[in-house]
Amino acid sequence: MFRQAKRRTAGRRNFEQTKASLLYQSGVSGTATYASRTSFYTVPPLEEITLEEFEQWAIDRLKVLIEIESCVARSKPFREIEATLRPLLLKYLPLSPEASLNAATILQERKKDHYLHFILRLVFCRTEDLRKKFVKNETILFRIRFSLMTPREQIQFKDAYSSKLPWNYITNEEKMDMFDELYASTGSTIRNALLAESSAGAGDSTQISSDQLKLHIRNTENFIKLPFEKVPHLISSRLVLVRAGHAYVPSSLQLNLLAVEFSDDLSACLLRTFQSLPRLEEDDRLLPVLNNLSHNFSSCEYDASSIDPALASDINASSITQDTITQHYPLCALHLQRSLVANSHLKYQGRQQLGLFLKGIGLSVDEALKFWAHQFTKGATTMTMEKFNKEYKYNIRHLYGLEGARINYKPWDCATILSKPRPGKGESHGCPYRDLPVDSLVSNLNEMGIHDQQDINVVVDDVSSREYTVACTRVFELTHKKQLATAKVAEDGMHISHPNLYFDRSRQLERADTKVGA
Ligand code: SF4
Repeated sequence: MFRQAKRRTAGRRNFEQTKASLLYQSGVSGTATYASRTSFYTVPPLEEITLEEFEQWAIDRLKVLIEIESCVARSKPFREIEATLRPLLLKYLPLSPEASLNAATILQERKKDHYLHFILRLVFCRTEDLRKKFVKNETILFRIRFSLMTPREQIQFKDAYSSKLPWNYITNEEKMDMFDELYASTGSTIRNALLAESSAGAGDSTQISSDQLKLHIRNTENFIKLPFEKVPHLISSRLVLVRAGHAYVPSSLQLNLLAVEFSDDLSACLLRTFQSLPRLEEDDRLLPVLNNLSHNFSSCEYDASSIDPALASDINASSITQDTITQHYPLCALHLQRSLVANSHLKYQGRQQLGLFLKGIGLSVDEALKFWAHQFTKGATTMTMEKFNKEYKYNIRHLYGLEGARINYKPWDCATILSKPRPGKGESHGCPYRDLPVDSLVSNLNEMGIHDQQDINVVVDDVSSREYTVACTRVFELTHKKQLATAKVAEDGMHISHPNLYFDRSRQLERADTKVGA
């Protein structure tokens, strides 16, 4: 399934040439190989891909799963998660309908989706916790994709997996025979589904009378008949009719059925993958890549080079101490800079963290030297310029790759910050959501403009569940409520996994808001 870019690995191939592999290699069209654009991922991929593709594709899917994880942690309803995910899916995991593109592109999209699902199975099968997380997020992804398909595609999907799904749609005669029972058992479920649909589509929910509901069931609703043991959760919630060993489920609940099937199947497959892992771990090419990917579950790399330098033209030694700029800082950078300004000093880890953050927002090396020199030598401090130049100038230039090994260091992401030792006495580095005592965190939240006790409680709850980046993302949403309501959702999703991402998003929203107001 994988190969290195330059060296062919025929001698190390792990899979036998099965009928399925011959199918993939025969160049059949996308529609023949992948019958539907949403999948139950029943057959593992068997063609070779490069190690670079292996890693890059997995990162693309990881970005989507991280966003889902973050949305769920912030208790977003399904419709909102779907709206947040749409642009992300288009960017990283497009799965176009058959009529929209040529067969080769469709095959490539579906192949990528297929391969990277299985790559991430390898990454997330290792512990119970990771397996649960993966199943939960993949199931949500499945639900979103299914609901994005047209009704015709949904039928095609069910046909493609008919052997897997023990379903039968009842005939109209059967439906009319037991109409009263069906109405009594499932009427409220169908009503709720219709109300949810109407509030998502029209922006308001209307009432549905009993007569309207009966008419809908009679003329439109289909019922799926399946063995009752397949849907214990629906039976215990009294959402379906049970008769003679069969459950009758309204088709408005079919996505729930599919999702249960998908997650049960995936949980079982992940366990099997976990049991096969020891054999895979003999492969010295994959192990580092898999380790790196599982580390990255909480943070996808932030690309500092993608920032337009023109947008950083107002960043200089004096502007970065003004509210107009610091209002866009995440709490970690704010806390560090406040500590520097108050004490005219920052210890090593703090200098690294803040220095790289400032470099990431566009502060040039000359302006950085001006800023640090001023802060270290100002006020009642005893430090002279000479001492600063002797002891700290090298350190600042080093961050910019101008000294020592001349490495162009990147700003730290949240995972790196959280992996460093916690700040000791007199230190201010780290993530304040993890490192500040609750009362101090709350007063910082107040200073950021968050006063509602309920809002503060949810942030503190995230912190006590050790979901620091979720707490930070929530704070971002609370402090940018107005702009987020008018602007489009950020193309790369909302989850904050990097302090510079927080800064960039905040500035983008401000610019968008200014344009709207102009
Ligand atoms: Fe900074 Fe990340 Fe912590 Fe937010 S979650 S304060 S960006 S380290």
